[in-house]
Amino acid sequence: MTQNIDHNHTLFERAKRVIPGGVNSPVRAFKAVGGTPRFIQRAQGAYMWDANDQRYIDYIGSWGPMILGHGHPAVLKAVQDAALEGFSFGAPTEREVELAEEILKLMPSMDMVRLVSSGTEAAMSAIRLARGATGRSKLIKFEGCYHGHADALLVKAGSGLATFGNATSAGVPPEVVQHTLVLEYNHIGQLEEAFALHGDSIACLMIEPIAGNMNFVRASVPFVKRCRELCTQYGTLLVFDEVMNGFRVALGGAQSVYARDIPGFEPDITVMGKVIGGGMPLAAFGAKRAVMEHLAPLGAVYQAGTLSGNPVATACGLATLREIQKPGFFEDLSRKTRLLVDGLTRAAHSEGVSFCGDSEGGMFGFFLFDVLPQNYPTVMKTDSARFNQLFHGLLDGGVYIAPALYEAGFVSAAHTDDDIAATVAVAHQVFKSLSK
Ligand SMILES: *Cc1c(COP(=O)(O)O)cnc(C)c1O
Repeated sequence: MTQNIDHNHTLFERAKRVIPGGVNSPVRAFKAVGGTPRFIQRAQGAYMWDANDQRYIDYIGSWGPMILGHGHPAVLKAVQDAALEGFSFGAPTEREVELAEEILKLMPSMDMVRLVSSGTEAAMSAIRLARGATGRSKLIKFEGCYHGHADALLVKAGSGLATFGNATSAGVPPEVVQHTLVLEYNHIGQLEEAFALHGDSIACLMIEPIAGNMNFVRASVPFVKRCRELCTQYGTLLVFDEVMNGFRVALGGAQSVYARDIPGFEPDITVMGKVIGGGMPLAAFGAKRAVMEHLAPLGAVYQAGTLSGNPVATACGLATLREIQKPGFFEDLSRKTRLLVDGLTRAAHSEGVSFCGDSEGGMFGFFLFDVLPQNYPTVMKTDSARFNQLFHGLLDGGVYIAPALYEAGFVSAAHTDDDIAATVAVAHQVFKSLSK
């Protein structure tokens, strides 16, 4: 590296000429926090290095998939072996069957899964399946939950319960979102009212059980219980979007976490992604046999993909799922994640900074508040100038968290207690400046 030249800046300028905003996914552009995005050169274990060869402790983990850290030897070996056998065949392979069997073993609420290439595709297909299986059009989603960027899901709440949502993106015709009802997260009264009004025509209710796209907000146990009861009562399919939570908050996903408090709890459809690909483009959706049999080629709901169940991606995902099943894996990951959140909280409080956090398994969130928010409007009351100061202070200190206050964070198996102590020490200095 040449001194004085900021290679991140040079690359960003070059990127902006040929890629809209210089990025291939908007949040990477640092628009919310300001400054220049770091162009990553390479990563190993818990660390990433940018174009200036600056090292960061990585708490994004590619937004969730890298639960083992970067370059895990068993995963690398599986990917290298698979690549030598061929990149893609457009014909079935044994590894797809193995991955499907592995997923079903870990999440017994499903009898069958279909593999796809992104979480967006999985959520979009799950909705088509729910509509096809029920013969209904309407769906419920919650404000602050993200389920990918399919047209019907880019919606914000309308003016009242009787009115359906408004598109949050240009290019989405009103006709496409007119069936989507957007409700407040954790609001049981509103949920009951929506079912009373529209229950018989709602195909599915889709929810991020531990929402990671509004930082970190748990659906309360009574709320999930009521979702389940109302869906059963009205013949609506309950869709758990576990793209982020699955194989991350616990081996059995968020559904296993809720089943601890709600005996026998199961969603009807599960949407998965992120960890199941281990960093490769791979996602899935699954349900009981009676629902899945509506999918082509068995049934009338069409869904397909040239690269679906890609042999290199499935090798990566399988190797990842095998590692996370090793004894003590989630115990240790959870312990380290709690260590981080507790350390940050103590450091903030010692400087008189309002701060609280929460975690489940290897996923965490924190807020510059005294109490944990329960819904999106409360999350968005965060003082963004203070968050941005915290973000840039951490980044300058070699700690990389998500460049937006509404995103969750991730700890990997590669993070050591020393990495966490170093992170807390950097944060402590930033909290000092925030307390002034
Ligand atoms: C990331 C995410 C998606 C979308 O997945 P992509 O692979 O980015 O399309 C959907 N739902 C949730 C909960 C997610 O976190």
